[in-house]
Amino acid sequence: MTEPIATSVDPVGDQWTERFAGIRQWQRGSERAPHKPILLLYALGRLQRTGSSEMSFVGAETDLGRLLDEYGPPRSSSPAYPFHHLQTDGFWTVATDDDSSPGSSIMKLRSTNATGRLVPELESEAANDQALIPALARTLLTANWPPSVHADIASAVGLEIDAFVSVGGGAKKRRTRDPRFRERALVAYEYCCAFCGYDGRLGADSVALEAAHVQWHANQGPDTIENALCLCSLHHKLLDLGAMGITSQHEVAVSTRFVGQGDAAQRMVLDLIDRPIRTPQSGQRQVAAIHIDWHQAEVFRSPRRQTT
Ligand SMILES: [Zn+2]
Repeated sequence: MTEPIATSVDPVGDQWTERFAGIRQWQRGSERAPHKPILLLYALGRLQRTGSSEMSFVGAETDLGRLLDEYGPPRSSSPAYPFHHLQTDGFWTVATDDDSSPGSSIMKLRSTNATGRLVPELESEAANDQALIPALARTLLTANWPPSVHADIASAVGLEIDAFVSVGGGAKKRRTRDPRFRERALVAYEYCCAFCGYDGRLGADSVALEAAHVQWHANQGPDTIENALCLCSLHHKLLDLGAMGITSQHEVAVSTRFVGQGDAAQRMVLDLIDRPIRTPQSGQRQVAAIHIDWHQAEVFRSPRRQTT
């Protein structure tokens, strides 16, 4: 665990971190709403690389659509929505050729040559403090996605988040993780992947086995066995990206969007379709329907593949 160390050496940066942490309020209940965080991460990546976050809607539309498609919830969403609505949160401004307000209409955002950028105060603060952008990015990632996909998203938006993590405390009100969650989940499933049965060890220690939250920690998923699976690293990643899922009958589901031609993809993923997931050892509860339903609605890329 590499949590940032809380310090008070940078009160201005801390203010921005706290405001970004407030983005959790954009969620309704446990429903995922990562549209504004995705636009912010994309803008932070651009700012970090070029020194300016300015982007035309037309120029960014395809990238944002792809990011929303890949890292947003499975229901479709338009990049026009965060491009317009982020303005109300005080981080982002939109300008047009004719000073009109295009709202969240794709056609108007295109025809008025709308450009968006982070507010100047934030840009200049980031120029003075190299630690600020990674701190803000981590705040957004932690509030909206499980750790297994943070590196993928950072790389997709071109952000460097591993450097400069020691500033920007922002530990305020963060939900803490139960440090025993991993161990309890692995014991419940007897150190064996619930999807494929992998149980490798390196010497005496199990290796490449992880405790997965079915309903993400970032979206109010509890640290309980009813919300846990022990999965190998491959299947954990595929579950968190919505390539794999769980049916209401506790069987393995695979998205039609997952494709793989080779023997390995066949053996490690496609052969598992409709296979019952492993049950935890006696006395421990299976994954609860409420968490399976959440994953199906918020993460899994429907429809699921049928066995051939
Ligand atoms: Zn596995």
